[in-house]
Formats: sequence, structure tokens, C-alpha cells
Amino acid sequence: MKITLLGTGDAVGTPKLGCSCPACMDAHAGGKSRRLRFSILVESDDGRLLIDTSPDLRWQLLKKGISRVDGVIWTHPHYDHYAGFGDFYRVQNEVNVYGLTRTLDYITNYLSFMKPRRHDVNLYEPFELIGLGLTLLEVTHPPIEEPAGVLLTFGEKKIVITGDTTRDIPRKSLSLMFRPDLLIADAIIPPRGTIPKHMNAREAMDLASELQAKTVVLTHMSHNFPPHDESIRQWPLGYDGMEFEF
Ligand SMILES: [Zn+2]
Ligand SMILES: [Zn+2]
Ligand SMILES: [Zn+2]
Repeated sequence: MKITLLGTGDAVGTPKLGCSCPACMDAHAGGKSRRLRFSILVESDDGRLLIDTSPDLRWQLLKKGISRVDGVIWTHPHYDHYAGFGDFYRVQNEVNVYGLTRTLDYITNYLSFMKPRRHDVNLYEPFELIGLGLTLLEVTHPPIEEPAGVLLTFGEKKIVITGDTTRDIPRKSLSLMFRPDLLIADAIIPPRGTIPKHMNAREAMDLASELQAKTVVLTHMSHNFPPHDESIRQWPLGYDGMEFEF
């Protein structure tokens, strides 16, 4: 099983339009600070899934040489997590999409020109796709009422994707997230401040230590981090195209 971080940027992406901060300049120069918006590719011997469909999806799929997927799981209905689904237009029809009812209601309305095959999922109820166990876990991402993180299991291996969330994750979710082999955690800014919808890097690392994560990688980063090669000395930042094999 392989996990690829297709996009590790926040909703704005790096470089941010019109910005010339150090991270954006590194991104313009082709450095690892260049970050597309959020998608994760999960591949097994039985198929491939996308966790969220970034507005940059077309370039992400082109880079991987992929044109078809077996399913899409949406964590929440924010633009940076679903808008690229339209790139399947005239490429793949009737894509299987999975998510909480409110999430699917919102996104399938936006995507009414497409005909995704809808599969409503309930929080904390495991389901199986491409030979992997999947569970949506409640997290906290105001004002979204039902944002989800994703628990992925593969044999004995456990991978947790927090999705967009603050540090205030419900107990029930924390106990299911416990001791992951890999924690992919939202960290939108360095620990210079807090932000009401996301974790900063310190909060993400604090979550990793509470969960006793074997490996942690940060994602959903904004241009407010110092350039990647500098930041990486302090924080385990992911980068676009980063792969994990199990
Ligand atoms: Zn987001
Ligand atoms: Zn910038
Ligand atoms: Zn969001």
C-alpha cells in the first residue's frame, strides 16, 4: 500500500498570488515550498482512492500519470478539498464518492453537472475499499458542522489523516486515532499564533505525541512557514509528491 501527498498547501497555495515572501520566492524558484492544494492518493494492489479532490487535481493526476480512480473520499465541503473533482469531466464518469451526508449534499449540488455515484457514510462506521479499512472520525473545523478525519487500516498498519481540524478533537476520535504508524496532520502555520480553524505546527506535534504516532508528517501548510528547507530543520513538513509505503 502506498500513500502519496499530492498537495500539501492550504486553500491559498504557495506561492500565494501576488506575494513575494521568502516561502513564495522559494516556490517560484521551484523549491519544495511550492505547494498545490490538498489531495492524498492511496494505492493498493486492488485499486486507488483519493482523499479529497484539490482545485489542482488535474496537474496532480498528470504528474502521477493517472486518469481513473476507484473512489473519492471527501473530508469536508471546503473549496480547497473538492473543487478539482470537475477535472474528471469527460475523463471518468460516475466516480464513486464517499462522505458524510451533509458533505455529499453540499458538494454534489456544486457538482450537479457531473454524475458522481454517491455513497453516504456515517461517522465511526468502518467500511472497506480497495482492500483497506476506512473510518471517518469527527474532528473540529468551524464553521463546518461535520468535518471528518480519516482512519485507514491495512493489515496491522494504521494511518490517520486528521483532515482540517483544530487541536480540539473529540475523545472518541482520539482513542481510535491512538498509536498510528503514520499521522498526517493539519498544520497551517508555524507556532507564532493560533488560528480558529486549524492546528499550528506546535499543536500538530502535541497531537502526535499524545497519540504516540510512530511517524508524523505535517500538511496543509501556508506560505507563512519559512522556506521548506529551513522549516524542515524544525518541523516534519511534508512536500508535494512525498510517498509512504507500507
Ligand atoms: Zn483546507
Ligand atoms: Zn508568500
Ligand atoms: Zn477546510
